[in-house]
Amino acid sequence: MARRVLIADQTATDRIALKAMLAAARYQVVAVPTGAEARAEIAAGNADIVIADAGLTDFASSGLAEDMAATGTDMPPFIVVTSRSTSDLRAGWLEAGAAAVLSRPIDKAWVLSNIRALLRAYGARAEIARQVGTARKLGFAEPASGFARPRRVALVGASRAAVGRVMQGLSAHLDCRIEALTPTEVLDPATPRPPADLHVIATEDDPDEALWLLAELRSHHASRRAAILMEFDDTDRSAGIRALDQGANALLRRDACPAERALLIRRELAAKVEADEMRTQLDRTLTMAAQDHLTGLYNRRYAMHHLADLVTLRRGEGRSYGVVLIDVDHFKSVNDRLGHAAGDITLRAVAERLQGNLRDHDMVARFGGEEFLVALSDTCPTEAMQAAERLRAALSGAPVVAGGEALTVTISAGVACTVSASPEEAIAAADAALYRAKSGGRNRCELAGPDDFGHPAFGDQGPRKAAG
Ligand code: GH3
Ligand code: MG
Ligand code: MG
Repeated sequence: MARRVLIADQTATDRIALKAMLAAARYQVVAVPTGAEARAEIAAGNADIVIADAGLTDFASSGLAEDMAATGTDMPPFIVVTSRSTSDLRAGWLEAGAAAVLSRPIDKAWVLSNIRALLRAYGARAEIARQVGTARKLGFAEPASGFARPRRVALVGASRAAVGRVMQGLSAHLDCRIEALTPTEVLDPATPRPPADLHVIATEDDPDEALWLLAELRSHHASRRAAILMEFDDTDRSAGIRALDQGANALLRRDACPAERALLIRRELAAKVEADEMRTQLDRTLTMAAQDHLTGLYNRRYAMHHLADLVTLRRGEGRSYGVVLIDVDHFKSVNDRLGHAAGDITLRAVAERLQGNLRDHDMVARFGGEEFLVALSDTCPTEAMQAAERLRAALSGAPVVAGGEALTVTISAGVACTVSASPEEAIAAADAALYRAKSGGRNRCELAGPDDFGHPAFGDQGPRKAAG
């Protein structure tokens, strides 16, 4: 389960100190003293993220990405650590492909928040790419439309001075629409404007205000998928650490020159646009082949392909995945009392609530009549049970209106988590747990144990929890 960090640093003391810091945070760490060794480790697929000292010029040259592509390797994100941190030098590193440039000295909280943010961003991107890959395998991939609408960047700050500082010199470097907005303008639903692809939050002396704005943008429908850059001051990193942990895509140093600012904006914009395109492509292809007509969710056929793919990937990495099998309680009585049409409306409402309460990269499918299947990637038993419990509460917490009545709809769920079991075995185990949830009174979640898998090696032992 541990993520692998590769440290490349020619100074033994720095290497050892950083290695100890990361190992204490449960990363699996390999440390090497030369760029050549670092490249070999990456080519062998041994790194999820790389931290390289700026002195290793044979590592992070401008040809790094091309060299890695030539070996058939996807370049993992790399962080450059430097004690000579001028904006020009940082811009050079960013141009060479660095995901972030950190100034020495680096402390544990600072480096860990940067690692977490990068792994999260790369993981989410890889997950969408994988979903597009699944659609392609089914033979339903459609090319992207090729139409590129103008990109919009919003610079948001409480004062004109702060926004002006971020804006200064940018337009010469960026080919997109740049708008300066106050927090009220960007959040006010009364003044509809085309959503920005990227927000830069300009901060002043009040980091709490900036963090509040970040949280608001992340939760608003129109901006939740936008890239968000947060301005920060390297002499006080605590706000930067919190911003990364609260979902900022990257930090923009207050002393950054226009070229450095533009590079970061361009890079995050490109990633966001690419993710949008992949999502659009996915939407289009799936409506053709893999969608359930009644609910709009994925159908069983797609779900099985998705799971098979997920299993191959996770098994290789030794990470667990989860399946949640969900069955609507006493659904037959809805049909019997209010008619089949009201039953259909209820199923649509259930589907909507399930989808609305999952992470973007989790998958929910209609598995059969009133049965649903959720696939949770990279998830341990405790997290899978939390997700199932969240779904259960989302249904029981508020009534569904169908057939002129406000119905209390509940679901029962069986949860199975495993590294090595096949999708069929995991679903059978989840089904056994679901049976227990039903016989235990319904409106509850049960976790499958080794008995449910029928094989002692398969069921990952996690805390059992019954809800309801
Ligand atoms: P339990 O709590 O044990 O799961 O009881 P239940 O009534 O939900 O289970 P049962 O299997 O007895 O009934 C499921 C019902 O779901 C029967 C079937 O007619 C109905 N159903 C299946 N697909 C659809 C559909 O697409 N639309 C409607 N309206 N009903 C459906
Ligand atoms: Mg059923
Ligand atoms: Mg049922």
